[in-house]
Amino acid sequence: MWAELLPVGRDSGSGGYRRFAWTGADQDCRAWFRAQAEARGLAYEVDRNGNQWAWLGDPEAGDAVVTGSHLDSVPDGGAFDGPLGVVSSFAALDELRRRGAEITRPLAITNFGDEEGARFGLACVGSRLTAGLLSKEQAFALRDADGVSLPQAMEAAGHDPGAIGADPERLARIGAFVELHVEQGRALDLSGDRVGIASAIWPHGRWRYDFHGEANHAGTTRLVDRRDPMLAYAETVLAARREAELAGAVATFGKISVEPNGVNAIPSLVRGWLDARAADEVALDQVIDGVRKAAGEYAERHGIDLAVTRESYTPVVEFEHALRDELARILGRATPVLGTGAGHDAGILSGAVPTAMLFVRNPTGVSHSPAESAEEDDCVAGVLALADVLEGLACRR
Ligand SMILES: [Zn+2]
Repeated sequence: MWAELLPVGRDSGSGGYRRFAWTGADQDCRAWFRAQAEARGLAYEVDRNGNQWAWLGDPEAGDAVVTGSHLDSVPDGGAFDGPLGVVSSFAALDELRRRGAEITRPLAITNFGDEEGARFGLACVGSRLTAGLLSKEQAFALRDADGVSLPQAMEAAGHDPGAIGADPERLARIGAFVELHVEQGRALDLSGDRVGIASAIWPHGRWRYDFHGEANHAGTTRLVDRRDPMLAYAETVLAARREAELAGAVATFGKISVEPNGVNAIPSLVRGWLDARAADEVALDQVIDGVRKAAGEYAERHGIDLAVTRESYTPVVEFEHALRDELARILGRATPVLGTGAGHDAGILSGAVPTAMLFVRNPTGVSHSPAESAEEDDCVAGVLALADVLEGLACRR
């Protein structure tokens, strides 16, 4: 499976992946998913929000066990974030069949669309729409950097955007959703375990900071006469780091746009996006309030107009304890249970269906980078763990 998937959307310069929602690379990933489903005799379908499903057994029967992840990527992402969960799902099904397991509940493998939000700026669009956490109107307002709207992009890729929206009937069919994912940190590496069970996803969000100043000549404008938004922005980046350290959280300005973006021009606008996450909402609020207050002071000092917009917010997600305990029982009580600062479709769906996650060791912890990695033995351990979980949940014992 990897041999076919690895070349898709890979940038030859960076070695990273650029599989953005509804682009050609994404379409190629989707074609791969469909081929994998059909090769196994699974019933293939695309739901109204563009998520792919491969079914074994009757979807209408209800109480289905669903596993899967996503195939899209961040800009220059790694090979494992997302695809490891999808590949492992198909491999785990192969393992169940090899074991001769009698699968008694409907079983589905999924690829949730637009998980990373790399193109339209909002993560987990496919699962958010399905769960009713993103309305059709909100989704229709999303635009990429070239001004292409989400419905236009869907249409260009052959998906009818007219029917997107909440899909409670589909969710009602699901009895349990289990997402396997490469760990995006080093907890398993430090504990010496190949596979772990997720406890919770940290609350997290994205905030847009618009620093409006005054464009002018970089050579002829005296320093005292400037209203340079880059200065207030730069100080705000440092404040984010400081506030995160104080709260035991993480905060990152990883994306910026500058107008007019000329080497010899003082900017008129610096727009930066703050991504912040913490183990609990009190700590996250502390970081967000602290950065906002500091940015206001810097803006005032430099004569800058500041506007801050919350673009997304996901509260803390505690995975359902009953399902988590079931996974621990199946995999053994010694299996580590860990939290994560990364958002996932499983977190989005957890409000509607019992969800759980498995993490596979990442020896460096690096993710969202071409350097993201996982050892083959650990990936195999992940497949076997997922097969054990699916056997425990979906098969007659
Ligand atoms: Zn992911």
